[in-house]
Amino acid sequence: MTSSRANLTDFEKSIVDKAIEAMQFAYCKYSNFKVGAAVVCEDGEVIIGANHENASYGATICAERSALTSALTKGHRKFKLVAIATELEDPCSPCGICRQFLIEFGDYKVILASSTSEQIIETNTYGLLPFAFTPKSLDTYEMESEQRNHSDEKH
Ligand SMILES: [Zn+2]
Repeated sequence: MTSSRANLTDFEKSIVDKAIEAMQFAYCKYSNFKVGAAVVCEDGEVIIGANHENASYGATICAERSALTSALTKGHRKFKLVAIATELEDPCSPCGICRQFLIEFGDYKVILASSTSEQIIETNTYGLLPFAFTPKSLDTYEMESEQRNHSDEKH
């Protein structure tokens, strides 16, 4: 599953570079663990994010959610790719909250990268969070509820 950055397309490499560059904007005075992210929106716009910690630790926001909320604020709702980078030589995987946040917007490519090695992991949002609870779960619930109500009316 781990491979080398050399296997990526030139475009994907450039997005990984942007994620690594975004690490400079981390505000991580408590952990010193810098994370950068770059998300490619459906129209091709690339938006970066970094992790921003807080003295109230629970208020911390991760880099990938930071990138996505910036993109969402600009009106984007569909994404093609997100690259996430840390200093760990083995690419680091997003936390549970971020996996949930990423999959809200469907299935798209995820590249986990390192600023200190050429190692990468290529996956997608569903690969990060199998059996996910998504907007489709709520749509299905609504549909099934309607069907049950209709069958009740017939009796
Ligand atoms: Zn996270």
